[in-house]
Amino acid sequence: MSMRDGLRIRIRGQVQGVGYRPFVWQLASRFGIKGTVLNDPEGVLIHGFGDALAAFVSALKTEKPPLARVDTVETEPFAFGEPPSDFLIVKSEGQGAETAVTPDAATCADCVADIYGPDPRRRGYAFTNCTDCGPRFTILKGVPYDRKMTSMAAFRMCEDCAREYEDPGDRRFHTQPVACWNCGPKVWGEADDVPTDEDPIQWAAQRLLSGNILAIKGLGGFHLACDATNPEAIATLRRRKNRPAKPLALMGSPPDIERYARADPASLDLLKHPAAPIVLLPVAEALPEDLAPGQTKLGWMLPYTPLHHLLMDAVGRPLVMTSGNVSGEPQVIGNEEAKQKLGHLADGFLVHDRDIERRLDDSVEQVTEHGIMSLRRARGRVPETLPLPDGFERAPQVLAFGVHLKSAICLTKNGQALLSHHLGDLDEALTFDEFCKADTDYAALFDHHPEVFACDLHAGYRSSQHAESRSGEKPLIPVQHHHAHLAACMADNGWPLNGGPVAGVILDGLGLGADGTIWGGELLLGDYNDFSREFFLEPALLVGGDAAQRQPWRNAVMRLDMVDLGTTADRLFPDQPVALIRQAASSGINSFSSSSAGRLFDAVAAVLGLCPDQQSFEGEAAMRLEALAASAPEEFEHPYEFGRRGGQITTASLFEAIIADQDNGVPAASIAARFHAGLAFAFAAPAKSLVASGRARAVALSGGCFQNVTLLNACMKALQDVPVLIHRTSPANDGGVALGQSLVAVARIIAER
Ligand code: ZN
Ligand code: ZN
Ligand code: FE
Repeated sequence: MSMRDGLRIRIRGQVQGVGYRPFVWQLASRFGIKGTVLNDPEGVLIHGFGDALAAFVSALKTEKPPLARVDTVETEPFAFGEPPSDFLIVKSEGQGAETAVTPDAATCADCVADIYGPDPRRRGYAFTNCTDCGPRFTILKGVPYDRKMTSMAAFRMCEDCAREYEDPGDRRFHTQPVACWNCGPKVWGEADDVPTDEDPIQWAAQRLLSGNILAIKGLGGFHLACDATNPEAIATLRRRKNRPAKPLALMGSPPDIERYARADPASLDLLKHPAAPIVLLPVAEALPEDLAPGQTKLGWMLPYTPLHHLLMDAVGRPLVMTSGNVSGEPQVIGNEEAKQKLGHLADGFLVHDRDIERRLDDSVEQVTEHGIMSLRRARGRVPETLPLPDGFERAPQVLAFGVHLKSAICLTKNGQALLSHHLGDLDEALTFDEFCKADTDYAALFDHHPEVFACDLHAGYRSSQHAESRSGEKPLIPVQHHHAHLAACMADNGWPLNGGPVAGVILDGLGLGADGTIWGGELLLGDYNDFSREFFLEPALLVGGDAAQRQPWRNAVMRLDMVDLGTTADRLFPDQPVALIRQAASSGINSFSSSSAGRLFDAVAAVLGLCPDQQSFEGEAAMRLEALAASAPEEFEHPYEFGRRGGQITTASLFEAIIADQDNGVPAASIAARFHAGLAFAFAAPAKSLVASGRARAVALSGGCFQNVTLLNACMKALQDVPVLIHRTSPANDGGVALGQSLVAVARIIAER
């Protein structure tokens, strides 16, 4: 080896905008390495020289800054023309460099120490952050990620902040949102249009403790907050927000969570993750029932900005932190907008002057025995990408538009898939605007030029119509809804393109089937490219259009009528127009045949008296049924048997058994538990046979019903000896569908070539 021999070291992964170059700089000085480090479109590139190169490379493989994700470290020999005498961070190279944007990250331990520490620049300062934490995506106006492209551009760094920003040895080196009391954003309280000159944190805490509802400007939008231990405040919030039963999210300090929730170590780790999602946790000590009527779990998050830390500390008890929006509309982000839209909901405002550029809800996740599952992908998780599985290396740039109720879009580029944040219900005009904005925004941010588009088979969805007009002359590939669910689950697990067929147990709400009927309880057999429908839930009629979805009694009547239990239906729902829907059903008026598992949950819930008349939010009946099942005694619950007829999994024996048990006084909780176990077995058994016979290589579990942990566990138990794929970073619900659509589109394009 000559004196000039060094190494060219390529780092791939999430290594930009996370303090990776200063980390390399510090590592280089530790090992006496000379050379350079820079960002380029492929990641980070190091040219290193020195005796300890081997140790330096092995440290690069084992150490990283907190927010970085290192996928690979590749080395090759490099001959320096002149042996370098320094280690330098040099200018980025190549087009597309510096475009990587990382998700917002919760305040790190060092910054928490700063806000309670002695340095007056940061003590009590609500916008303290560093390279390891703080706002990213939510303050970003465009790329490259640089202070002038963020809403921090409005604030001129003071000399002290500038010094920290310039110093590679400082924790705040190149921290774009660096700020302090002397130069950064300010927070204030406001009521009746009058800003208060009191200390805003103390002011807000006093108001909350006296039962007020406050609109609080957070990271990705406003929250409506109230004291979570005060039933009157909660009732007022529910009344004003017209939100009778949907569970309210909570923010608590670690001691609050320890007291009121049962958090296993994995859930605690997840709560403390820089993404700081809402985590569903079983109740320990009771809080007011009205927080989540009929539920046994509550959604908790830790304070994730310094403002939240200071406020939680001043309040000393858990707070409700629900999305600050008018019912159905997207979350409010602007100060003026908040006054207009939340003025009648809140008694006061805790606001600040750093603009929110990107609206992001809180992410919702849960820890199961089988790993972490995303339920709503948003703040802290986007714009993180998912590597495409093997075989997709030649994937064209695809843009998939998802579905209409839990909408999200998905982009593929450079072997990565970017599943957008949760956008919401496109029937709401403002949400649809938000959806169109996300389309434009993500394209600009990721320099994305789609060659192929994908959407749902249902041409009536606004997402599909948008896809139609957006695709123009380029190919638009419609993907069957449940095939997309299957493909999303496969992609989430890195299932290779040529990995062979997978049996997909898809238990879901509604999706248009390949045969023109409505599907939703399917056993599919397929790969990314194509699928067949092996088994499906015996269809029942959905009568009354949208009402069939909102009113569980309708599904119960149709299922009971199918097995001559009509008189039972009459007895169970005396106040409902049962005769009318029978008439509509027999004459086919406003009636659709559907194999939806979600609607089967509704039917069983209605029979057990769980919100039979009306669900106040999507999934309420099923969530209550799961909570009920979870309260069943631990001893073995004999699963209800479903029948089979041809390719159908029939429900006659199920409803006969439920009604017989009910008549015999079997507790509702046991009935709910037996139903879960029975449904799981009815689908898992034939799925397992597909694997046993060699027709499938694994079983994938997808669809909205798999947010239900009781159902998930029952399926996993029934599938003990076969490989099972479950959702992790993409939601099992419709929030994950766009990911599946994009992979199906890619697979079809590759197959055509
Ligand atoms: Zn920090
Ligand atoms: Zn400053
Ligand atoms: Fe779905």
